[in-house]
Amino acid sequence: MMLGTRWEVRRRGEERFISVLQWESLTTWLEDLPEDQRDEYEWDLAPACRCCGEELIYAEGERPSSRQHWRCERHKGRNPCAIDDCTKTHAAPTSGELADHDWMCPVHWRRYVPPHSARRRAYHAFWRKAQKEGWHPDLRRRFWRFWEALVRSARAKHSAGGVDMAEINRIMGW
Ligand SMILES: [Zn+2]
Ligand SMILES: [Zn+2]
Repeated sequence: MMLGTRWEVRRRGEERFISVLQWESLTTWLEDLPEDQRDEYEWDLAPACRCCGEELIYAEGERPSSRQHWRCERHKGRNPCAIDDCTKTHAAPTSGELADHDWMCPVHWRRYVPPHSARRRAYHAFWRKAQKEGWHPDLRRRFWRFWEALVRSARAKHSAGGVDMAEINRIMGW
């Protein structure tokens, strides 16, 4: 999955953007503005496919409000690997929505949730529990909190940041 790297700049509170800039140009542009004018602008990611980063042009009013749903023609119905800059995709679950954090490709899964690791064991523990108890709402809720922490941690590791193992431990009560 790749984020769009361009940013739409608009005057605060206005719908139309005045410019679309690369991040580097945006920071330069901001630096060049008199300081008392910087507050007048805001910026947001320009729409780009969450699977391949292709820039997208939506007709007015047709842009999905959630970034997670931005897809090019080729990736309609696909979900990207949760790890930034990975190009692997898989079919979105038929029941589920388009998302950008609900799946990791096998390579990143092995790398960030290695076999026999505490996190892999915790993942399997959830499925074992579900086999016995079914996915009741409480288990489902705990699983998603665990999963979100797992993805955050994998993303942090990937960008060479700290590992969020403390949070996983807290959630798992270890
Ligand atoms: Zn795409
Ligand atoms: Zn991947």
